[in-house]
Amino acid sequence: MQRYKQHELKVYNSLSGTKETFTPITDGYVGMYVCGPTVYSNVHLGNVRTFMSFDMVFRYLKHLGYKVRYVRNITDAGHLENDADSGEDKITKKARLEAIEPMEIVQRYTVDFHNVLNTFNLLPPSIEPTATGHIIEQIELIQSIIDNGLAYVVNGSVYFDVHKYNQTHEYGILSKRKLEDLIHNTRALDGQSDKKNPQDFALWKKAEPSHIMRWPSPWSDGFPGWHLECTAMSTKYLGDYFDIHGGGMDLKFPHHECEIAQNQASKGQTPVKYWMHANMLELNGARMSKSTGNYINPAELLSGENNIMSKAYNPSVVRFFMMQASYRSVLDLTDAGLESSEKGFKRLMEAIKLVAKLPTAANSTFQISEWQQACYQAMNDDFNTPILIAHLFEAVKYINQINEGNATITASDLALLQNTLNTFVFDVLGLEELEKADTASTKLSGAVELLIKLRQEARANKDFALSDQIRDELALLGIQLKDSREGTTFSY
Ligand SMILES: [Zn+2]
Repeated sequence: MQRYKQHELKVYNSLSGTKETFTPITDGYVGMYVCGPTVYSNVHLGNVRTFMSFDMVFRYLKHLGYKVRYVRNITDAGHLENDADSGEDKITKKARLEAIEPMEIVQRYTVDFHNVLNTFNLLPPSIEPTATGHIIEQIELIQSIIDNGLAYVVNGSVYFDVHKYNQTHEYGILSKRKLEDLIHNTRALDGQSDKKNPQDFALWKKAEPSHIMRWPSPWSDGFPGWHLECTAMSTKYLGDYFDIHGGGMDLKFPHHECEIAQNQASKGQTPVKYWMHANMLELNGARMSKSTGNYINPAELLSGENNIMSKAYNPSVVRFFMMQASYRSVLDLTDAGLESSEKGFKRLMEAIKLVAKLPTAANSTFQISEWQQACYQAMNDDFNTPILIAHLFEAVKYINQINEGNATITASDLALLQNTLNTFVFDVLGLEELEKADTASTKLSGAVELLIKLRQEARANKDFALSDQIRDELALLGIQLKDSREGTTFSY
């Protein structure tokens, strides 16, 4: 029997503001969409936390036996610098600053994004669509919103008519904002804008002559608005009404609010059954910000090359630290917090190694099946990972007691204990043994050192074809050799 039939999962729905029993639209199947990154810079650690939270959700739903289609997009066009539809396209701006093609920016930071998520052991989504790959779908959506009278065209750009929409629907239903309050709190238009009202948002923007990323449309050569792409891609792969839509808390308004409005205006229905929002990551009690210097990126955190932490932290330790807070709480990243997670993580891993060697007895002094139920109850209570981890440490205590001869366990209970620990620690929380990562990189370094040695021998024998081949093929794998007077070093 599928586990989801035995367990009642409750999910906090941001739309209703309550924990609701999770019942997918189609029994046994779950469609989940999560807003992905705008690939114009290295991925922010706060975003890593968001994607890690939804990775945990994805893993648990799969563990329960659901067939999950998880769609996470890549925003490679249309994301302007501010929410009022002004400023430059973020990717175009970066491309201009670096004097390279926008698609080079997209490629570079998409690769970085994948590498970082891979390092933290996130599973890839089922589909990872890009905004530029779905221009036709976006144009069709805009046309249907215009046909339904809820968008207007001005000077080649198309805007969503929020005021008109609000006459028949509730704009602000997700973020609990009222249009009257929004009107009250927004400055009037400066006369430069094509919009009827400041609350309206762009569905299509006419491109300036210098704008490189542009596509033909019935209205102008231009590009789609940022909010639109998620409506186009989520409904294309998951249907007009799907189970879970996730993202960071900062996307609730206006991004997700606009997604609801676009879906209502084009398809006549709300798109999502359960809206889920992951909370923010702070650093030493304050908002992370490059401009104030209170900032650390994933690579700096893992390498130890930063002025904020006392040392480097293993990705599994960082992941464990993040899982020790509920995805809905603000989490404060500190050196002390990471250090205590590191100690806890090592204790957990040592206990897991010990399980296989424990002696068995005729009876158990600990109720293993009740403990297993408690683990499920924690996860079923809106993915409460801190409570789950507290239960995992009860098992650690018990394992150590058995090992010291102060408690006993039967063979079948031991098997259940081992199985449950492996399931929650590795499959659901997505943690990895420290040695596993360490051994892989040690082996790789050893292999590269060997190739460097063979290359030196080839050069000594004047076999430059072979020495160049070694260098070039390593470069293709992303491993760069650097020759200097002191010898050859490598980086990847
Ligand atoms: Zn989105």
